[in-house]
Amino acid sequence: MKVTVVGCTHAGTFAIKQILAEHPDADVTVYEKNDNISFLSCGIALYLGGKVADPQGLFYSSPEELKSLGANVQMGHNVLAIDADQKTVTVEDLATHAQTTESYDKLVMTSGSWPIIPKIEGIDGDHVKLCKNWNHAQTLIEEAKHAKHITVIGAGYIGAELAEAYSTTGHNVTLIDAMDRVMPKYFDQEFTDVIEQDYRDNHVQLALGETVQSFTDTGDGVTIKTDKGSYDTNLAILCIGFRPNTALLKGQVDMAQNGAIITDDYMRSSNPDIFAAGDSAAVHYNPTHQNAYIPLATNAVRQGILVGKNLVNPTVKYMGTQSSSGLALYGRTIVSTGLTLAAAKQQGINAEQVIVKDNYRPEFMPSTEPVLMSLVYDPDSKRILGGALMSKYDVSQSANTLSVCIQNENTIDDLAMVDMLFQPNFDRPFNYLNILAQAAQTQVTSLETTK
Ligand SMILES: Cc1cc2nc3c(=O)[nH]c(=O)nc-3n(C[C@H](O)[C@H](O)[C@H](O)COP(=O)(O)OP(=O)(O)OC[C@H]3O[C@@H](n4cnc5c(N)ncnc54)[C@H](O)[C@@H]3O)c2cc1C
Repeated sequence: MKVTVVGCTHAGTFAIKQILAEHPDADVTVYEKNDNISFLSCGIALYLGGKVADPQGLFYSSPEELKSLGANVQMGHNVLAIDADQKTVTVEDLATHAQTTESYDKLVMTSGSWPIIPKIEGIDGDHVKLCKNWNHAQTLIEEAKHAKHITVIGAGYIGAELAEAYSTTGHNVTLIDAMDRVMPKYFDQEFTDVIEQDYRDNHVQLALGETVQSFTDTGDGVTIKTDKGSYDTNLAILCIGFRPNTALLKGQVDMAQNGAIITDDYMRSSNPDIFAAGDSAAVHYNPTHQNAYIPLATNAVRQGILVGKNLVNPTVKYMGTQSSSGLALYGRTIVSTGLTLAAAKQQGINAEQVIVKDNYRPEFMPSTEPVLMSLVYDPDSKRILGGALMSKYDVSQSANTLSVCIQNENTIDDLAMVDMLFQPNFDRPFNYLNILAQAAQTQVTSLETTK
């Protein structure tokens, strides 16, 4: 069986390892246009902020490792065309520019995503940079050495992390976003108000609700004009989202509107010999039971493994995702899973939200910390749809607990009483998640009495 893998960061690396574990005799060839594999982009902000000293730790595999497992690894090779009818790929060796066409039995599309670059005047200038891969990380750290003022465009979680990182390395930072709150997709306003105050306290200039209209090169930087203001900066970094890298299969397999490849539960595209995983593919979003585009490494590694398990026979189903994610900003752990109330309302979903602030452990302990918590649920079925937590205490694993609740379609009644450990070092007789769900139960009762 000849297997061709297009692209090798997370989905590709995990797919190749699993394919070779399940089918040691498979003839697996991977084409990767870069000179590295498995780079953890989530480490870019940590590296820029000086929390990670050695960036080599941000790679967890290598071409050599995949070769030792039996893969034919073609680094510096760009796949130029895919013919799904003929089952061939045309590839360019970027060093020699030689082109070859090879056949396959199964094709694995793990070509990922690329930053969205809107058509804005001056956006291709020298002082406007992207943040996606290892090459970008190196550029950003080099440029930051000479930049006094850095502007991050896009206050999603990547822009949010970059703005924080640069504000801790002596740079003046501006964070611009067209939306009027930071990270609105992940957090409701009670959370983003706190996050925005943290930015202001750390001298990050917030330019929210502003749309960038042009970039004008000034020699040692760029002037960014928005619909409401003008910002002179030495370095601008675009972080406004990602688009799937799937043009090679356009018209050959079913895709979502943005080009994400639609797969079945076994990662098969509409062409049974073409699999897709990671940022090139759509995901099944459990809170809404719909397909969605959620480019996260969490999805990429799981889907990559499923390609290996399902390559010959459909065996293990994809569980879908809650889009659980988290970040640490200015000493706070900020995590979320599933729907915010705003997202639920936007999608016409019947949802209520309860917000609770409580200390994570008893006040008689030498210290404690408040935890801000949100639970979004369907008031009729009482099914949990989403949640978020924020604290100076590490509450990250609680988002994972909520994620399991959403995955298993648990209700607020389940979460209110489910067994959780109690010990004053860690929590109260009821864990703070139990308390959150109990508050939701009280809210439901009062909603019912006011009906
Ligand atoms: C700054 C940053 C921080 C992030 N932080 C997190 C986080 O904290 N948690 C999280 O879960 N996710 C995070 N992500 C998202 C995560 O990095 C992506 O979801 C993940 O990289 C997707 O992996 P992938 O293998 O599907 O695709 P990609 O990483 O996009 O890799 C695709 C690969 O395919 C190659 N390729 C594409 N086209 C071709 C072609 N024609 N020929 C040959 N090779 C090709 C590319 O060179 C690339 O190496 C972050 C992303 C960024 C940019």
